[in-house]
Amino acid sequence: MNDHIHDIIPAPAAARVPVRGATVSGPALLGMFPVRRVYCVGRNFADHAREMGATAPASKADRGMPVFFLKPADALVIDGVAAYPPGTQDLHHEIELVVALGRDAPAGVLDPAQAGALIFGYGIGLDLTRRDLQTAAKAKGLPWDTGKSFDQSAPISALLPASEVGELAPRTLSLRVNGTLRQESRLDQLIWDVPDILHELSKLYALCAGDLVFMGTPAGVAALQPGDLCEGSLDDLIRLECRIAPPR
Ligand code: MN
Repeated sequence: MNDHIHDIIPAPAAARVPVRGATVSGPALLGMFPVRRVYCVGRNFADHAREMGATAPASKADRGMPVFFLKPADALVIDGVAAYPPGTQDLHHEIELVVALGRDAPAGVLDPAQAGALIFGYGIGLDLTRRDLQTAAKAKGLPWDTGKSFDQSAPISALLPASEVGELAPRTLSLRVNGTLRQESRLDQLIWDVPDILHELSKLYALCAGDLVFMGTPAGVAALQPGDLCEGSLDDLIRLECRIAPPR
């Protein structure tokens, strides 16, 4: 019977991110990764927590709970151009490691030792932020949505299968804007590493295949202007290019 019930408006296209893998002749398009949800972690590098005026934990035992928020899947940008958003005078870049889940988590709280089995691969992304709106919301104890979860707020690279990335801790994440180095950190500086974050998220949400997790940004966040070119990298493994276009 449901076969006869049609959509009353055209269904929006599902968000998808390209997957690339290394070949002898260079990176090849392996397919597309359909996205379900985009989770984001706040304050996951001590140097960035401090630059935002927050206290960085002195030790692992002292770190409390991570800060989580979400972006809509349709905020992802895969074509390398993001328009300067309306409603802000202070658009900031935040370069981040992105984790892509290829399997549903089992019911209940995920054991960090089992987290690796869920991971399909990795990319890097920009958690674009209307810093003025986020700062005003924080001051009033209000949600961050307008500061974080706007159209085209999540430019992302192609994903690389986990087997081609290997161990994350020694890898270096960096961002250049118009050729100038703005952000750079080794991933061993994460306060909560990937298994820790998937463990903490699983206490709050049912993690599923198609979920992405933006892992938080190191220090050096700063303002972007229309015309700026952002170039992110994870060593020489993953690259992201995104131009900030004039407001639409
Ligand atoms: Mn962020």
